[in-house]
Amino acid sequence: MSMVIAGLVASYGNTAVLHGIDLDLGDGEMLAVLGPSGCGKTTLLRSIAGLHRIDAGRITTDGRDISVAGQLQVPPEKRGIGLMPQEGGLFPHLTVRRNIEFGLRAGFVRPYLAGRAERARRVDEMLELVGLPDAGAVRPSELSGGQQQRIALARALAPAPSVVLMDEPFAALDAGLRTSIRQDVRELLQASKTASILVTHDRAEALGTADRVAVLLGGRCAQVDTPREVYERPSTPAVARFVGDAYLVDGVGRGGYVETVLGRLGTTTGATGDGQALLRPEQLMITERKDGAFVVEHELFTGPESSVTLRHNDTGLPLRAIARISERFAPGTAVDVSVASPVHFFPGSEL
Ligand code: ADP
Repeated sequence: MSMVIAGLVASYGNTAVLHGIDLDLGDGEMLAVLGPSGCGKTTLLRSIAGLHRIDAGRITTDGRDISVAGQLQVPPEKRGIGLMPQEGGLFPHLTVRRNIEFGLRAGFVRPYLAGRAERARRVDEMLELVGLPDAGAVRPSELSGGQQQRIALARALAPAPSVVLMDEPFAALDAGLRTSIRQDVRELLQASKTASILVTHDRAEALGTADRVAVLLGGRCAQVDTPREVYERPSTPAVARFVGDAYLVDGVGRGGYVETVLGRLGTTTGATGDGQALLRPEQLMITERKDGAFVVEHELFTGPESSVTLRHNDTGLPLRAIARISERFAPGTAVDVSVASPVHFFPGSEL
């Protein structure tokens, strides 16, 4: 299955929320849609699911129109799309088995899942798939948050959809559990060869889980790329800042390197002229030196490492570096900063 979204415009009343989204989803691929709250992520998912009428553009799956502007071409239950809503959305009064069956009854049903025996078998298969073969008779409240998310996924996958849409599915889980559950979900989707779109405002979740990331800013796709590309070669300073801690330092490109207050830094582009170099905290190494160009303003101990904020003596440029656990940088310490190249360079002087 492949899905193509072209020129999608969606609004509420007279207010446009999505201003022409182009996206494609490959067979079995997981695409994360990453953006701040209010940028239109849920509206995008609802448009794809057929729960929101789009104003312009079209959505096709395997070349077939499922949505054309102004019409709900194919009703939600016939789109072959499974939805995994925020916090699972399981029915508390139904057993786990009934919850999963509900997906089969309410959703589009493949012909081979139409009979009662087939449905029961499918529920068992799904419980097995999500690693909870004995949970059928219990109610969702008897399960942990992570187990409930697995059941929500089982329910979404039960009708064998071509695409699963997930709206901030892990937001309610504790940080520790979130990482392992999202890897589980990824593996389960891979095992069933189901394509998926994961909507999230959590950059670590998007970068660490998806095959590609679409950065949605202000109702527009600012960049669609692999997690590494989006992080290391963001298309704009706004993307750079949204996907990680970013410091933009004025510099002059000389083709292959850029001159900055931190010295000559290697870049991956041959761009020349004024612009800005992107520095990430993990690229900066600090060493104490009496006549260093920076001064330590603050040191924050975070457990595995320390976060050290610095200021350049002459220009006032602020930076943040990561220091190893064994190093100590008290406020007021003079330090030098060296940069692990290459750095990304934005030619042009606009921010
Ligand atoms: P996200 O999921 O990225 O937080 P949404 O798609 O929920 O963003 O919302 C995008 C914008 O549309 C926001 O400004 C929000 O206030 C607005 N919006 C969302 N739902 C409605 C609605 N039912 N009626 C009017 N405006 C809405």
